[in-house]
Amino acid sequence: MIDFVSSIFEHFVDPRKRIFFGYIFISLLIAFIWLIYVKKLSPIKALYKIFDKRIFFSKSSKSDYSIFLLNRVFTLFISPMLITQVVIATLIFHSLHKITWLNLTIFQDIPKSAVVLLFTLTIFLLDDLTKYFVHRWMHKFPILWALHKVHHSATELTPLTIYRTHPLEGVVFSLRSAFSQGTAISVFFFLFGDKVTLASVLGVNIVIFIFNVAGANLRHSHIGIRYWSWLEYILISPAQHQLHHSIAKEHHDKNFGATLAIWDWIFNSLHHSTETESLTLGLDDTPQIKSHSLITIYISPIVEIIKIIIKNIINAYLWFRKTVNILFKLWQKLTKLLTREDKDNSNVEI
Ligand SMILES: [Zn+2]
Ligand SMILES: [Zn+2]
Repeated sequence: MIDFVSSIFEHFVDPRKRIFFGYIFISLLIAFIWLIYVKKLSPIKALYKIFDKRIFFSKSSKSDYSIFLLNRVFTLFISPMLITQVVIATLIFHSLHKITWLNLTIFQDIPKSAVVLLFTLTIFLLDDLTKYFVHRWMHKFPILWALHKVHHSATELTPLTIYRTHPLEGVVFSLRSAFSQGTAISVFFFLFGDKVTLASVLGVNIVIFIFNVAGANLRHSHIGIRYWSWLEYILISPAQHQLHHSIAKEHHDKNFGATLAIWDWIFNSLHHSTETESLTLGLDDTPQIKSHSLITIYISPIVEIIKIIIKNIINAYLWFRKTVNILFKLWQKLTKLLTREDKDNSNVEI
């Protein structure tokens, strides 16, 4: 129980967590200034807009809050079972030591500040790139989509919607993080030894810290801040992520990026932001999960995955049976042909 309470509390006081109160406060401030200067609202109207009770007390948001609490319980049980990045880093580090042809002395002259800069950027870029691909796969593969639907079933967005995920999606993303960080850490320690340190602020990678301070929480909110068109090629704006949640066909499979929009730009999934007021958020193809009931949210993805697996097993069995039949017929034809040839040959001899 103490673990559970402290894990919830930790999310608001730990700067490594997205909903750290400092980031939330700065996000509120950014939203306030944006509504006044860009949307030309009065300060009172801006406050009403930010703390819109229709959003924060909606069915969707209430289920976000419950999922956030319930997922903390799941995390307490699941996380110790996951392969940690330390294990992965150690495994890679030991296998790298078997490389004998590489002359490591060439890396010794590189100044520490350059190593720190390179390491901090690599960790950030690798983390962001793998997030992009895993998110893209979540939309592409039916089994992963069954899990990721939970996040997309939100019809209103609040900063806590980031935690509206199925626990199994959490496992997939934890493994991704362990692999990407474990790889970067082991390679850098192998090449540069004790020069490797992360440039951080309050224990957070400085790049992530800047992004969080710049209002990352507003991506899951009803405040549709848009960036200049050129900047939306580089960084995902809050409005671009809100568009990712839109049910409109033209917005499907767009803006998978977590921090950088560059990956979406390179791999052809970028969509510039639009006015978010007109967007309808949620799912258009799964009526049962729209109820926001917790049982449906946690159970229906499992049922769907079992159905997909059974369907695939049946399809594989039917394919196997069809292939065996074809091969058997071919074999029969071949043996018939061979016995006929044998007969013909023996006739010629006579
Ligand atoms: Zn998505
Ligand atoms: Zn989202």
